[in-house]
Amino acid sequence: MEDAELKEYLSSSGAFLEGHFLLSSGLHSPNYVQCAQALKNPAWAEKMGAALAAGWKGPRPDLILSPAMGGLFIGHEVARAFGVDFIFTERENNIMTLRRGFSLKKGSRLIIVEDVFTTGKSTLETAAVVSSFGAETIGAMSVINRMGGKTLPFPSSSLLKLDLTAYQPADCPLCKAGVPVVKPGSRKFP
Ligand SMILES: [Zn+2]
Repeated sequence: MEDAELKEYLSSSGAFLEGHFLLSSGLHSPNYVQCAQALKNPAWAEKMGAALAAGWKGPRPDLILSPAMGGLFIGHEVARAFGVDFIFTERENNIMTLRRGFSLKKGSRLIIVEDVFTTGKSTLETAAVVSSFGAETIGAMSVINRMGGKTLPFPSSSLLKLDLTAYQPADCPLCKAGVPVVKPGSRKFP
């Protein structure tokens, strides 16, 4: 999958927006990413899952694991491409955990799949769940990487790296230009 093709799809699907946005961090940005908009199309979700699996150079995973909600659709598609099962973690009292009868076999090898790597926090919390079962995280994948220079403690890959600019409101050139700020869907503004 070419970067240009994916970027064009992200824009046309509404996953990558340009304007003036108030992020959940409180910073202002000329761009906003809402990966759910890209995953709403099943054919594209399947294509992106297949591209992530095709780019994997490590050993075959036994299982794909994603943190809910963001990772659900892309994780399921990556699992389809590998021909393995897919399960997910979710938060219970703010602690990442496996529910619904899901568990991990000791020694099994997993890849964690997310929609977007932002801080890496949810990936690391999911990896901690894997370790707690004596299983191994052999890698992590996402559609979009916007971690800047940050890395994860296992092999990781993304379809697209975005370096998104963000400003303190006081330093925001869009505020200075009088462009109205928009609160997009996020943790704070669902
Ligand atoms: Zn601003």
